[in-house]
Amino acid sequence: MDCSKSGRKYTFLDLGRVNVPYAARLQDACLRVIAGGRYIGGREVEAFEDELAAFCGCRYAVGTGNGLDALRLILLSYIALGVMSPGDEVIVPANTYIATFLAVTHAGLVSVPVDPDVATYNIDVNKIADAVTPRTRAVIPVHLYGRPCAMEDIRDIAEHHGLKVIEDNAQAIGAFVGAERTGHLGDAAAFSFYPTKNLGALGNAGAVTTDDAKLADMVRALGNYGGNDRHDKVYCGYNSRLDPIQAAMLRIKLQDIDELNNGRRAIASVYGGEIVNKHVILPDYGAAGHVWHQYVVRVDNREHFRNYMSRNGVETDVHYPVPPHMQSCYRAAGLGRFPIAEALAREVVSLPVNPACTSLDDARDISEIINAYVC
Ligand SMILES: *Cc1c(COP(=O)(O)O)cnc(C)c1O
Repeated sequence: MDCSKSGRKYTFLDLGRVNVPYAARLQDACLRVIAGGRYIGGREVEAFEDELAAFCGCRYAVGTGNGLDALRLILLSYIALGVMSPGDEVIVPANTYIATFLAVTHAGLVSVPVDPDVATYNIDVNKIADAVTPRTRAVIPVHLYGRPCAMEDIRDIAEHHGLKVIEDNAQAIGAFVGAERTGHLGDAAAFSFYPTKNLGALGNAGAVTTDDAKLADMVRALGNYGGNDRHDKVYCGYNSRLDPIQAAMLRIKLQDIDELNNGRRAIASVYGGEIVNKHVILPDYGAAGHVWHQYVVRVDNREHFRNYMSRNGVETDVHYPVPPHMQSCYRAAGLGRFPIAEALAREVVSLPVNPACTSLDDARDISEIINAYVC
């Protein structure tokens, strides 16, 4: 039964619809990979790596199995290169997807969370220096929801304390600060091409970008069982490579990423211009370079708001209801309390923002529905 007033349904995200415009080209590329007979590594992967590096303005891009592995391989490579040692500390934002924390844990390092800035949802740069100890080796800014972090400040702090800057760019491909793309704003960056991301594969996929040749070589070696010689592995490595079939899919969609991100920006500006309701706090619009992986508002009574939206046919989602430090796997670690991250986790709601599923008219309708909301 459809109980919305208009009888319309506003889908949050339908991945099938995202790929409809690409279906014929994706099929052609699949057939090309099948006929090519090369199912690990090879031409498609190399071409995608070159195209991604060029897109970000980076010297190197290395494909990985997924975004978590991209982060993990960067940290493990720094350990293998002697830049960090197990037990060293890495500063992370307290509100992020749990992958950021897990990569640190898996590398034998210690996550030191820092509360976000409530206006930008990103790591609060004024709190980073206080979290630095003699064991701190790196900071991982996450461009949450597609909004670039205050990278100039972060780089200054990192330089002052001798820290590596590792961007978690899983949510922000194509975002920029001035003339520079995210993914080229630190020492290394991790990308995820999980199907729901702004550039989504048809399965798991990820990548590392950097200008550091030694780091790029190490990431490639560690992701390929510990070396590129088939029978003499230098390190006890891992198996985490970008599949050619996914590389072929990503090559097609990478060509359109700026246009796809512009579609998200257009929806975000409708919301930003039209939603006026004292119970609904809109995200800070930020600079031009935001790519709106999510459009996240804050409300006091989230259940009430989401039920209201749902009754009016609008699907919403929550990114994320439980911060990593409060999830069961980290409870025993006693990472501390992060009041802003914890408050955001109670209040945030994501509105539909994917242009394949939400037209500008839909965004206007959704804005009107929100304007009629009473708490
Ligand atoms: C999606 C995501 C990841 C992990 O990516 P996977 O490809 O799912 O492993 C890491 N960090 C953030 C912020 C993410 O949103």
